[in-house]
Amino acid sequence: MIILTQFNELGLNASLLKALDSEGYKTPTPIQSASIPELLKGRDLLGIAQTGTGKTAAFALPILDRLAKLKGRPDRGTCRALILSPTRELAAQIGESFRTYGKFLRLSQATVFGGVSINNQIRTVGQGVDILIATPGRLVDLIDRRVLSLAKLEVFVLDEVDQMLDLGFIHAIRKITGLLPAKRQNLFFSATMPKEIAGLADALLKDPVRVEITPVATTAERVNQSIIHVETRNKLNLLIDLLANNAMPRTLVFTRTKHGADKVVKGLIKQRIESAAIHGNKSQGQRERALAGFKSSKLRVLVATDIAARGIDIDGVSHVVNYDLPFVPDSYVHRIGRTARAGASGEAVAFCDPEERPLLRDIERTIRQKIPVTQHAMSLATPEGNERSGGPQGHHHPNQNQPSWRKKPGQRPQGNRGNGKWRPKHQQRQGGGQSR
Ligand code: AMP
Repeated sequence: MIILTQFNELGLNASLLKALDSEGYKTPTPIQSASIPELLKGRDLLGIAQTGTGKTAAFALPILDRLAKLKGRPDRGTCRALILSPTRELAAQIGESFRTYGKFLRLSQATVFGGVSINNQIRTVGQGVDILIATPGRLVDLIDRRVLSLAKLEVFVLDEVDQMLDLGFIHAIRKITGLLPAKRQNLFFSATMPKEIAGLADALLKDPVRVEITPVATTAERVNQSIIHVETRNKLNLLIDLLANNAMPRTLVFTRTKHGADKVVKGLIKQRIESAAIHGNKSQGQRERALAGFKSSKLRVLVATDIAARGIDIDGVSHVVNYDLPFVPDSYVHRIGRTARAGASGEAVAFCDPEERPLLRDIERTIRQKIPVTQHAMSLATPEGNERSGGPQGHHHPNQNQPSWRKKPGQRPQGNRGNGKWRPKHQQRQGGGQSR
């Protein structure tokens, strides 16, 4: 397998290269160099990768390249490429990516999802679009209303399939795939590949190229992580204290519940810390305003639940705070990955109440690292904390007396780097692992 290292070696057209250049993208990420040449040949693809790997461009660029070669406009009520996304945020994000990469091409696109009026969507989709990005529920609605036909589809993308199944979209997906024309190119992306998903991929894909990028441990390695043991009742004050005493310009805080997110925002606003929450109970308008405020740095803190944060792609998140530990260890990796986009590194701190310690152990098992403990005035004394420096893992935080979290960015703690971590075999293949 040859790994190509420059965008201009991948076979993309000049307008796309110009757009990439203007975005400042220098080299393709592993998933891009492995997928783009194969997709340009028209092959199906099975991508095992999560956000943060550059997978959106990996599928958007070859789709744009292919559609740019077509003559004429799409027929009314049809689309030429369809991208299905589990959440509105991810759909909007994908739409933005297509707009960015396709800015020197004259292709039409639309993004449709629920929670907003369908009338504009009916008008836009009714005219016919080259690229349609949709959440499954709203797409089925448009099909049922006979606004949209998939008969002319050329490329079909299912993104974040594991999330789609978690959110209960399996019936919608079955319905949609049943309406696709026989001759088409299929792309299928999922961060995980349990049996059910592998079965769905098998049924959909014809002789796919398989590209597996497993960033779980990699993401965890790039992020400077720390844990502060603290009672739940002190978590809000701890967060306020960290924000007051540290350079944390763009901080994403994760809570387990919507109610918890609102409570944190209320507490922060009382202290005049500009913040907002995004979660399932917020209207589309509120979510968009919160995201825009965070992106433009008007808000210093965004508090989110896991589902709401899926697919949101904000460059330059300086810190991720796990206010509550997630029940699912993978969510921890997704969360901290928000501060390590496209190869950047970042800082992540987790607050751990005594009752959350079993969750912490699960997380450490998943990422195969001990997360260094940082001491704070509000820290709980833990026997585990002592074990950590001399225990069997032999992991000693280099700044035990001078917490790393107290340092300003640029003085990154090295606590979780280069400690001889064991790597599972499948991860040794990453960096464009590709097999047929
Ligand atoms: P994704 O995994 O598609 O969500 O992409 C993660 C982030 O990486 C996004 O902010 C992209 O804009 C950015 N990105 C994607 N590809 C590249 C690249 N080749 N060079 C630099 N940034 C990239």
